[in-house]
Amino acid sequence: MTCPYLEYREGIEGTPTERAYCAAVDEFVQPMRADVCNDRYDLSHTSDCEFYREAEGLEAGESADDATGPSSEEAD
Ligand code: SF4
Repeated sequence: MTCPYLEYREGIEGTPTERAYCAAVDEFVQPMRADVCNDRYDLSHTSDCEFYREAEGLEAGESADDATGPSSEEAD
């Protein structure tokens, strides 16, 4: 699954290619991080990207599934 914050936008004006853009931090994504954004290899945006985790309000060791599960509603 691809990160929901990943977008593709035109980079430098006049160039035909689009670049990966992170809507969580409003910046273009560095090429090496794009593997995380696209969950390539054994990488996962939910566990390997600090920008995603911060945007989702996740703490270290907490997965996105944990945050939306029934136990998170009982945490109050
Ligand atoms: S940098 Fe992180 S939050 Fe932004 S698109 Fe990539 S995985 Fe998602």
